[in-house]
Amino acid sequence: MLNVPSQSFPAPSSQQRVVAGGRSKVPLKQGRSLMDWIRLTKSGKDLTGLKGRLIEVTEEELKKHDKKDDCWICIRGFVYNVSPYMEYHPGGEDELMRAAGSDGTDLFDQVHRWVNYESMLKECLVGRMAVKPAAPKGMLPKSQATDTLAREGPSSPSYDWFQTDSLVTIVVYTKQKDITLDSVIVDHQDDSFRAETIIKDYSYLINIELSHAVQGDFSVRIVENVGKIEIVLKKKENTSWKCLGHPLENHNSLVPKKDAGLFYRQCQLISKEDVTHDTRLFCFMLPPSTHLQVPIGQHVYLKLTITDTEIVKPYTPVSDSLLSEFKEPALPNNKYIYFLIKIYPAGLFTPELDHLQIGDFVFVSNPEGNFKTSQFQELEDLFLLAAGTGFTPMVKLLNYALTNIPSLRKVKLMFFNKTEDDIIWRSHLEELTFKDKRFDVEFVLSAPISEWNGKQGHVSPALLSEFLKRSSDKSKVLICICGPTPFTEQGIKFLHELNFSKDEIHSFTA
Ligand code: FAD
Ligand code: NAP
Repeated sequence: MLNVPSQSFPAPSSQQRVVAGGRSKVPLKQGRSLMDWIRLTKSGKDLTGLKGRLIEVTEEELKKHDKKDDCWICIRGFVYNVSPYMEYHPGGEDELMRAAGSDGTDLFDQVHRWVNYESMLKECLVGRMAVKPAAPKGMLPKSQATDTLAREGPSSPSYDWFQTDSLVTIVVYTKQKDITLDSVIVDHQDDSFRAETIIKDYSYLINIELSHAVQGDFSVRIVENVGKIEIVLKKKENTSWKCLGHPLENHNSLVPKKDAGLFYRQCQLISKEDVTHDTRLFCFMLPPSTHLQVPIGQHVYLKLTITDTEIVKPYTPVSDSLLSEFKEPALPNNKYIYFLIKIYPAGLFTPELDHLQIGDFVFVSNPEGNFKTSQFQELEDLFLLAAGTGFTPMVKLLNYALTNIPSLRKVKLMFFNKTEDDIIWRSHLEELTFKDKRFDVEFVLSAPISEWNGKQGHVSPALLSEFLKRSSDKSKVLICICGPTPFTEQGIKFLHELNFSKDEIHSFTA
């Protein structure tokens, strides 16, 4: 559905577009980039044809606007005239037309629920649906939500609170044993208190305007064997609270995680360090009133306002160093978040990010992604296939596997880059091969200098079959793959041809 510039990447002429398969990425005409779209929306042109009026749209009316040059789409109860946007949509006109004259919320959520369409399409807003379609997802009161989820979801969580003279403790009873510190994300901003707990593939939200002021910092404790989470807030004044506060939107609701909205908090740029000629290590500080630990293999979204439009792109947090599990981190891990980000001079988002000064802010979302550390259980051979910044999810994976999986015999990374200068953290990787005998790395270059005597070319069955040797016939294997979409798609195809099963492959995608 609607899209952001990551979908217009790679460039139409680039080899990354050559391989077919998956969602089509349609080459955009000259002058039809996201930046061009933003310029058009700022030009004052009437993009809805309604001269700035907002109207109530009936279902009958919506259905009438189902043609390319007259195309209305409803997303979460709001109707947009997307005809002017057609040529700018990196997913192509056909993708948009699938929702023409109808409610496109589900289609939109399937592809890019994180895209900030409200901001991108604000000049295309026609109005609201007169009769709301179905109740928007994620808005069910808990009683209703739990009825629906009772059959397939986790058993209903609940919460309680108690106080002493100086503390207020909020307790979440998840009724799940596998709850860890990264299962809960807490934000306390002004008087509003928000705690989202991820329980299997569901999200349980506590969202309250507190009745009294509390201090900025708080602590989070997990009582693992009973699945209890305790969030301890410090009162500003030692008075007795009569109630915890007033419920805010979606308070005490349990919804499938995919239907929960993304929550953002402002994080401050602390440092920026060159890693290669075009890739930098960014360190951001979380607010003191946030508890957020991004689970291994998951990504977050960064949001910046560029020319008055909110732009959102996904990035995968890394550790501050590939060797960080083997030494004391310079800064406490749970207060800082690190990213390895490649700057594309002609890109929309990364040059803006690169222009941030130390002390500037960026919005960081809650995590997303479907990698689970349970995939490591009893694992013997871990193979990582990364291309370019597709290396980023491998960083935490590597650290975790080498330090926490006793069954592990071998970890091998095949790292595809254009030239030697493009290899991220090459010296760390080489050092790691000395530090841990189970680890090995192979660099493959697509455009090496003539003196390069390592592997050359692109991902291929020949390269993979030589690389992916099990440590024994029946050893449990996991192959993780990440890079430009066509690289990943091709790699998966070759892995299937080499008889690796679906369960043995994990691909990182948006
Ligand atoms: P874009 O504007 O998307 O442009 C990128 C390139 O394409 C530029 O060279 C630009 O000139 C070219 N281009 C764009 N539009 C056109 C057009 N219409 N015609 C011709 N050429 C065009 N990246 C990282 O560096 N680190 C990470 O940790 C990371 N994690 C990710 C996690 C996930 C789940 C996903 C899906 C992606 C991740 N990415 C990561 C990629 C990241 O999200 C962005 O896609 C990337 O940073 C480029 O953003 P940009 O806006 O700067 O560039
Ligand atoms: P890059 O430098 O352009 O490419 C890295 C290597 O991959 C090069 O050797 C390149 O060969 C090769 N390659 C590119 N396209 C290929 C294809 N179609 N088939 C085979 N090999 C191909 O990579 P980058 O600019 O760092 O981009 C990294 C990509 O990873 C981005 O698309 C980003 O969105 C994605 N990413 C995804 C996630 C995630 O989903 N979780 C996380 C991080 C990054 P050539 O020299 O021939 O181009």
